[in-house]
Amino acid sequence: LPEEFIGAQPILETLEHAGYEAYFVGGSVRDTILGKAIHDVDIATSAYPEEVKALFKRTVDTGIEHGTVMILDHGTGYETTTFRTESGYQDYRRPDEVTFVRHLEDDLKRRDFTINALALKHDGTVVDLFDGLADLKAGVIRAVGNPEDRFGEDALRMMRAVRFASQLNFAIEPATLAAIKDHASLLSKIAVERIHEEFVKMMMGSAAHRGMGLMIQTTLADYCPGLVGHTIDLSTIATLPKLRMASEVEVWAMVALHLGLSYPDMVEFLQAWKTANHIIKDVNLALHLAYAQQYHQVSDQVLFEMTPDTITAGSHVAQISGYGPSDLNLWQDAYAKLPIHDKHELAVTGADLMHDLNLQPGPAIGDTLDKLIAAVIKQQVTNEHTALLDYAKDNLVKDSTK
Ligand code: ATP
Ligand code: MG
Repeated sequence: LPEEFIGAQPILETLEHAGYEAYFVGGSVRDTILGKAIHDVDIATSAYPEEVKALFKRTVDTGIEHGTVMILDHGTGYETTTFRTESGYQDYRRPDEVTFVRHLEDDLKRRDFTINALALKHDGTVVDLFDGLADLKAGVIRAVGNPEDRFGEDALRMMRAVRFASQLNFAIEPATLAAIKDHASLLSKIAVERIHEEFVKMMMGSAAHRGMGLMIQTTLADYCPGLVGHTIDLSTIATLPKLRMASEVEVWAMVALHLGLSYPDMVEFLQAWKTANHIIKDVNLALHLAYAQQYHQVSDQVLFEMTPDTITAGSHVAQISGYGPSDLNLWQDAYAKLPIHDKHELAVTGADLMHDLNLQPGPAIGDTLDKLIAAVIKQQVTNEHTALLDYAKDNLVKDSTK
């Protein structure tokens, strides 16, 4: 058992000694069997939340109405969830009601795919009620139970299927795939934030070409913000030979680049996806570099606008898309050689300009500062206080008063 499980073993043992059942469940079991690294360990138990709380000294009610209690007795917190069934799903997403149950089988039955419905005992035995092990071995994503019903209950599962296909390089089993095609339009009922999360994970998967191909094939892409009518652009992404995205910024820069979006349409597109503002800002920069590389003109001014991370992202996206020159070191060296990397590094301020050059407060100040920055970057003047003021006096202020 991996280290993460070992740390949680005393919890399973305590529950079992008290007469309850307890198992590791979910992604950590799947990934361990696949020999992949795991991040979080989920525990499922027959004990009801109050019974769990009675057995441990330090617990937090992280989601007690759904049966989840965090146990802190053994250093790291471990989330323990009572076996439950779900019913209702009026909104195609959240169940209207969860019911706590005593049998593991009922809990595993509600899970999305057979590879996610495995349970692991503290001694390392696997409970496999839906042939998840065979599907793991064969590389297959198969809905637990009737796929038509399962996607009708929760439409997000369709995006999860595609996301796992990309992360694991698995095929979606034919009946499951057919059900996704049938229910694709239900995706429009799902909150964009949830689709966003799965889409980004899909794009960052090691088989993103497969994930993107499935988005098109199932028509799920048509129910995502701003992607309808872009099948050809998306197919182009799906056929890029070295498609491998290292960050969310790269994902969106890649999509925007192939959709031909730039500022401000790109912002509108990413806002429709409810993307965080700091990501939008970085995508804009990365995209700037990617487009510049496409047209073979990366100026020092463009580089100055960047940050080391957005240079990496933009350059990576351009390289994968086949736009050269794409030597990352080249841009990093050029960036490192810039005399300044931020407007705050300029050796004069707006106040200096007003005081020493008698400039009036107003747009002329910002304008002059921008011109000084451009001159410093082009190495027409050194970034030194008096040199800058002299340069401004000789070249900028006189010009603007002509
Ligand atoms: P990851 O590695 O991304 O965490 P995961 O399989 O652990 O993958 P989670 O979203 O953490 O995914 O969910 C944990 C488990 O809960 C899943 O393995 C699955 O058994 C179940 N599950 C999660 N979301 C759903 C859903 N929408 N429908 C049914 N079961 C789900
Ligand atoms: Mg998980």
